[in-house]
Amino acid sequence: MDKTKLEKYAALLVRSGGNVQKGQFVMITGSVDNAVFVRMVQEAAYDAGASEVRIDWIDDQVNRTNYLRAAAEIFDEYPQWRVDKLKEQDDKGAVYLHVRSSDPDALAGVEADRLKRFAKVSGEATKEHRKLTMGSFRRWSIIATPSVAWAKKVFPDLSEADAVEKLWQYLLKGARADGNDPIADWAEHKKSFDARLNYLNEKQFDALKIKTGIGTDITLGLAKRHIWEGGGDVDKDGIPFLPNMPTEEIFTMPDRLRADGRVVASMPLSYNGNLIEGFEMTFKDGKVEKFSAKANEAALANIIEMDEGGSRLGEVAIVSNCSPIGQMNTLFYNTLFDENASSHFALGKAYPKNIEGGDKLSTEEFIAAGGNDSLVHVDFMFGTSDMNIWGIAADGTETHFYQDGEFVF
Ligand code: ZN
Ligand code: ZN
Repeated sequence: MDKTKLEKYAALLVRSGGNVQKGQFVMITGSVDNAVFVRMVQEAAYDAGASEVRIDWIDDQVNRTNYLRAAAEIFDEYPQWRVDKLKEQDDKGAVYLHVRSSDPDALAGVEADRLKRFAKVSGEATKEHRKLTMGSFRRWSIIATPSVAWAKKVFPDLSEADAVEKLWQYLLKGARADGNDPIADWAEHKKSFDARLNYLNEKQFDALKIKTGIGTDITLGLAKRHIWEGGGDVDKDGIPFLPNMPTEEIFTMPDRLRADGRVVASMPLSYNGNLIEGFEMTFKDGKVEKFSAKANEAALANIIEMDEGGSRLGEVAIVSNCSPIGQMNTLFYNTLFDENASSHFALGKAYPKNIEGGDKLSTEEFIAAGGNDSLVHVDFMFGTSDMNIWGIAADGTETHFYQDGEFVF
């Protein structure tokens, strides 16, 4: 991929994504597969005035070998030094930049129980940090870059080099980062969210009824005084940032006690290095009553059975079919991309910002207001090009505001 294009992508992550300020402390997590690009991000962060930029390197292969070969007991411990390290970074007011290039099958064949136990201890140990990022007290941003394994999964018929090049092209296009001035393109894109957000926030529907041709038929209560969000975020100091690039969704908080019906996934879900395929769930009173998957059902069970909140919904997100990613008609096996091609739910924790005054509520108050709490937050896709959504008002009247894959207002 052309060096200038990559430098623009790196600058997009730093400027529009994390919005790095003068004197800012910056933490980058990046894959060793993309070391050259990660170094570009570091340069771009210093160009933006960062005081210090540190990098946490991720190596899927090393990680996999540990899951396969390490002693059983290490999956019940989360090292205290890592907790302290996160705290030190948060205390310094870090901005977190993530460059992701995971292999969707990286942990295939690893004992599901090891993954579950470690997800649990790490989830508990990093709770305070997650509160800061999910509550927008710290800014963060995620973008994707190809790895060979990922590229071959998406384009199995191409050579390794061609697959990587093609995935680069798709990722840049999907992230609206292939133009002359991606930063300006994003400023324009952000404005396009306003009409949808204003409409839905004003309507304050009591519930949504969602149907698709492949079998989803669910009625979902929305929390009282819920807020639809999308097109980026603003931190507690009023500094805007983009947690995800791409982002095409608008999303809000379901009432954790009011989901009834069936949801059929429209795409596989890559979770913890395992690809969950052909899955569906049935909800009653907001809780998963039964579920099944054609492949990797144990990984799905790991999410649902993580804790009480893992079996309830924390997010409903609506995406229009005409987004650049939707138009590519490509399965990316990567949530960052696939969730922006298709409407989705999240199992697990809800975002406090999706309800009025949510960041001032204690966990108990948040739950009482209908917000879901959990160690997990996992998006899964159910949207299809023939999806329809009706908004149901408190008096029962229905508004058919989304027809055959598009908003119609
Ligand atoms: Zn989402
Ligand atoms: Zn989500």
